[in-house]
Amino acid sequence: MKLKNSYLFSAVAERTAAYQKAHPERRLLRLSIGDVTRPLAPAVVAAMRKAADEMGRCETFRGYAPSGTRMGYEPLLATIVKSYARKGVALGEEDIFISDGAKSDCGNLSDLFSADNTVLIPDPVYPVYLDTNIMAGRRIVFADGTEENGFLPMPKRDMRADVIYLCSPNNPTGAAYTKEELRAWVGYALENDAVILYDAAYEYFVSGEDRARSIYQVEGAKECAIELCSYSKTAGFTGVRCGYTVVPRELVREGVSLNRLWERRQSTKFNGVSYVTQMGAAAVFTEEGERQIGEAIAYYRGNAKIISDALTRLGIPFTGGEHSPYIWMKCPCGMDSWTFFDYLLNNAGVVGTPGSGFGRNGEGYFRLTAFGTHEDTEEAMRRIAKLLET
Ligand code: PLP
Repeated sequence: MKLKNSYLFSAVAERTAAYQKAHPERRLLRLSIGDVTRPLAPAVVAAMRKAADEMGRCETFRGYAPSGTRMGYEPLLATIVKSYARKGVALGEEDIFISDGAKSDCGNLSDLFSADNTVLIPDPVYPVYLDTNIMAGRRIVFADGTEENGFLPMPKRDMRADVIYLCSPNNPTGAAYTKEELRAWVGYALENDAVILYDAAYEYFVSGEDRARSIYQVEGAKECAIELCSYSKTAGFTGVRCGYTVVPRELVREGVSLNRLWERRQSTKFNGVSYVTQMGAAAVFTEEGERQIGEAIAYYRGNAKIISDALTRLGIPFTGGEHSPYIWMKCPCGMDSWTFFDYLLNNAGVVGTPGSGFGRNGEGYFRLTAFGTHEDTEEAMRRIAKLLET
């Protein structure tokens, strides 16, 4: 009863459809899409074909995934361990749980914590953290992301929280924590016996050495953090569905291993991800796979640069775009998020996402995404520049 209607995306779709109906001749450009548009890498497709063939032969057919490996097939677990090693993080296969994507685990992890825990959620952020904790009936407090802190809230002395959600690079602001900044959150969690749920769904967009690709790049994080990762934005798996969640064996609260608890929870309520999907995912972090997905990421980065360059030329403040496919711009002339949405739709035929849908602090901001085509992104920014220059 406390859940608000998921107004944001339905309202965007409704207003866009109404405008298109009234102006059928106008080609709308959608910089609102949060879904990927580049196809699966050839290495992934080949691995899935091979796995499908194996499933069609008696000698190589597989049923339920092996339970001893937490439902992850060994080749996939091995590539994940190696990908962490390249980030300077030593994990064991026992720390990794294969999932059908980060969204399910964002909600399901809630089963590990008691109902009277207090949950800290950044604002603005991916709305799933808030809604799943409203469903669980927990007390929720917010950490404000504002222009002053670059939309990267930091721990404060008077904060009291048992479970802390962090999202870096952040959806919707595109802001990404440095390792140094994460050190402060890890310090807070260790001091206060809190557990951090670190959503790294966009880690593959991070470049350079300063920003964190994983919270485990910070010392002590294995004792206080769970990390959620996804092949969705990294490798175009939004429709295929595969991710992985790291619950380190070092993470213990009140004498209980959270790794054991999560294994118990998953083996009760989940039956794993298909063999074909896991074999496709296992092709992502191979040399060939990384080269191929790198091309798609470079494509999206190119779009992000087109958007950032245009906003810089217009003198409009924004965050994101550098380590993220999201660009978070300030609405010009003090417009609120929905006024700017309508203004852009009606005068430029460009669709974005009103920032107010991501939390109280999102009011007055607007999210543009880099997941479209180069041509549409260029045309959209040309139209926006023409409109806003005047
Ligand atoms: N986490 C964040 C921050 C996201 O933005 C999204 C999807 O947009 C997800 C998780 C969900 O990812 P998946 O497709 O793996 O469920």
